[in-house]
Amino acid sequence: MAEGSELLIVGGGLATARAIKAYREAGGEGTVRLLSADAFVPYHRPPLSKRYLRGEAEVADTLVEPEAFYAEHDVEVELETVVATLDLEGRRVLLEGGGARTFDKLLIASGATPRGLDVPGIDLEGVHMLRTLGNSTAIREAARGARHAVVIGAGFIGMEVAASLKQLGLEVTLVHRGKGLFELLRARQLMQFLADLYAREGVELVFGDEVQSFGGRSALDSVETARGRVMQAELAVVGIGVAPATGWLEGTGLHLDDGVVVNDRFETGVENVWAVGDVARFYDPIFGKHRRIEHWSNANYVGVEVGKLIAGREGGYDTVSAFFSEVFGMTFRVFGDVDEADDIAFRGTLEAGKAIGFYVRDGRLAATLVVGQDDETQDRLKELIRARARVPDLERLADENAPLDEVLET
Ligand code: FAD
Repeated sequence: MAEGSELLIVGGGLATARAIKAYREAGGEGTVRLLSADAFVPYHRPPLSKRYLRGEAEVADTLVEPEAFYAEHDVEVELETVVATLDLEGRRVLLEGGGARTFDKLLIASGATPRGLDVPGIDLEGVHMLRTLGNSTAIREAARGARHAVVIGAGFIGMEVAASLKQLGLEVTLVHRGKGLFELLRARQLMQFLADLYAREGVELVFGDEVQSFGGRSALDSVETARGRVMQAELAVVGIGVAPATGWLEGTGLHLDDGVVVNDRFETGVENVWAVGDVARFYDPIFGKHRRIEHWSNANYVGVEVGKLIAGREGGYDTVSAFFSEVFGMTFRVFGDVDEADDIAFRGTLEAGKAIGFYVRDGRLAATLVVGQDDETQDRLKELIRARARVPDLERLADENAPLDEVLET
């Protein structure tokens, strides 16, 4: 028998927790049901590659809201419950293993899942992916008994995990197909700085190579690369990116194109069906294009906005996108859209822990990378990006003594 609810949410991540709170605060009524494949109520993922992984935080520290919050807000939580498919006409979802849940309104917040590596030995004990609290717990336990770790991938997950494992005292090698760390940010200065930092911290970097196989009888003992390098390793973590979790939505009639395509009010085009967070490709009015953003700040923001909208209040996407990463105690923040840029100018130095990278496109500010800046400067930079400030002279941007409002024209 199908159990019904007024608002059904598929996915139990950050976006969902924020949406529930905002929905109730905005006066949203009726039953809310949360279906999540995970074993825990919504938690923050950033600590899973940082403080939690290093044993500096525990499960309770990662929860977005305490467990009691859900009962207090009249939310039926069903954990370890996987949705197999969506039946839009029947206004219901079908569960793996049988059963269905009906809805009046549906919020799709199924996030993203890590991309796998199709190489021999991937299933060996000791080879890990990292997305869930369970994954992070398994890695932190494995790290206790390991001396050598290989991390695959140089995006923010690979970089953070490599840094954390090094901080735990392991010998760490990072293998990446491309040319450097954080290549997505396309800033030569940053890549050089990070390469030096990781080398100084004792992480071995292997670029332009990829894993060909994981070796070992039942448990991992070595990793072999395509160029023939063999590394001793009792622990490996694969961090080569994620894909939107849309498998359960295939063939349902929703518009899927690298995520669920929605407008700036997170509407799918099917009445009373919204999508947000890592799973959604939404319209960003500031950059005038659809974007899918796989970052904490986005899920944090859009969750609140969609909660208000579902409750019938005003809301929608109207912010400058942002994300952060932290390695070896250093925090990087990125505002705006780095993909847009055709020039990058830096002021300050990353070595001194105080710098701004300005990403410029068609003579206008599109994004910034910031390290060690105060809140006021960060807020001003976001305003300047929002205004698509003009950059009359790229070189003057690099001059630390030139006030922002003199080198950027709004
Ligand atoms: P998710 O958090 O992915 O939640 C999706 C939920 O949907 C999960 O509960 C999942 O179990 C459930 N689900 C999926 N499919 C189904 C299904 N078929 N049936 C039922 N349930 C389903 N971002 C930053 O900006 N900075 C950082 O430093 C940072 N660090 C990170 C570190 C790690 C280790 C990870 C994994 C991510 C990190 N992120 C970071 C990214 C950030 O955590 C995500 O952008 C954010 O969690 C997205 O939230 P979400 O609610 O959209 O989706």
